[in-house]
Amino acid sequence: MQQPAYPDPVALDEALARLRQLPPLVTSWEVDALRGHLARAQNGEGFVLQGGDCAESFADCRPDVITNRLKVLLQMSLVLVHGLKSRVVRIGRFAGQYAKPRSADTETRGDVTLPSYRGDLVNAPEFDAAARAPDPQRLLEGHARSAMTVNFVRGLIDGGFADLHHPEYWDLDWVQHSPLAADYQRMVDTLGDSVRFMETLAGQPIGDFSRVEFFTSHEALLLHYEQAHTRQVPRKDGWYNLSTHFPWIGMRTADLDGAHVEYCRGIRNPVGIKVGPAMTADWVVALCRAINPHNEPGRLTLIHRMGADKIAGHLPGLIEAVRAAGCRVLWVCDPMHGNTISTPSGLKTRPFDRILAEVEQAFAIHKGCGSRLGGVHLELTGEDVTECTGGARNLSDIDLARAYRSTVDPRLNYEQALELAMKIVRVAD
Ligand code: PEP
Ligand code: MN
Repeated sequence: MQQPAYPDPVALDEALARLRQLPPLVTSWEVDALRGHLARAQNGEGFVLQGGDCAESFADCRPDVITNRLKVLLQMSLVLVHGLKSRVVRIGRFAGQYAKPRSADTETRGDVTLPSYRGDLVNAPEFDAAARAPDPQRLLEGHARSAMTVNFVRGLIDGGFADLHHPEYWDLDWVQHSPLAADYQRMVDTLGDSVRFMETLAGQPIGDFSRVEFFTSHEALLLHYEQAHTRQVPRKDGWYNLSTHFPWIGMRTADLDGAHVEYCRGIRNPVGIKVGPAMTADWVVALCRAINPHNEPGRLTLIHRMGADKIAGHLPGLIEAVRAAGCRVLWVCDPMHGNTISTPSGLKTRPFDRILAEVEQAFAIHKGCGSRLGGVHLELTGEDVTECTGGARNLSDIDLARAYRSTVDPRLNYEQALELAMKIVRVAD
């Protein structure tokens, strides 16, 4: 399901042959390390922060956009480490989040019908026949941009950008004028004091404060692309998808007998599955058994995305069923995708309060069921966009017109993202 119809199969084969020969974007060691972190989070030692664009765009493969997204994720993770008193596993929705599922194969405007836009890995969003034709060269362009993104993120992190001694490196412009600035600054100062205090006690710099680990993730949607990156690794068993550390199965492709489940069943990577309100307990349990037959810790993450008005009705039954079946999973809440609404002018948006309400209920429901919410999955950007309403500046429907840039789903802007991290800490107990 959800695969583009390439007009030229020979060109597709050529692009895939080339892709199979290119170096991978991540290594099996990193993939195995992430599985270990997720296994610990599953045991209550760690909290996952997964976030980034709904759809990356080729045009946004730019240093400022990448840096700002990294900054907001680092700032949020600092807030979570401090507030939850927990390790945070940082996973970006980036370096490959270029393919999108669509509800229809075609889009009609007036009397013109064209293929739907399926993300920059497939075609271009402009509504004309040339832009919308699926082009296999884009698979190679997507790989190249993913490699540039990963390379730049690795360089920044290895170079000391994420050093806890210098959280000022991560400051976005808003720090001076945001209603949240004082709270954030107080936390950064407290953390800086603690780091210096510990190092004074230890009599030397504590290495762990100068680096963080960062992992990549994307929806494993375009199976041609994923397969071309699926490799055997010397001295290791099995197959690894080396285009990303953490592929996930989207809600529209989670059929038990579908190709996406069959593909993910066969790789060693930790895998996520989006779980929507239409999924029954039997379906979810069957997915757990299919993807993780040996109940390996860290292997499977269930990312529920119910909506603030549905989570209370749907989630408890799923938690009970998964537990009763003896399946070990990490539970993560995506409070974005069940809370999308349209404004009267037709823009897709998400109210901040609904997003927060879903996370708050998720913590309470897991606790009530003797389970644990082990992370959040968010759509956000480090840019000053106006796509979601509400938040500290109380953006209204009218404000959305000012800086609405997403070609797909509405993202939290940097200020809303940081505010959400601060509020998550409050609703977590
Ligand atoms: C997404 O994560 O952008 C997405 C399409 O989510 P879902 O599969 O949960 O609808
Ligand atoms: Mn989305």
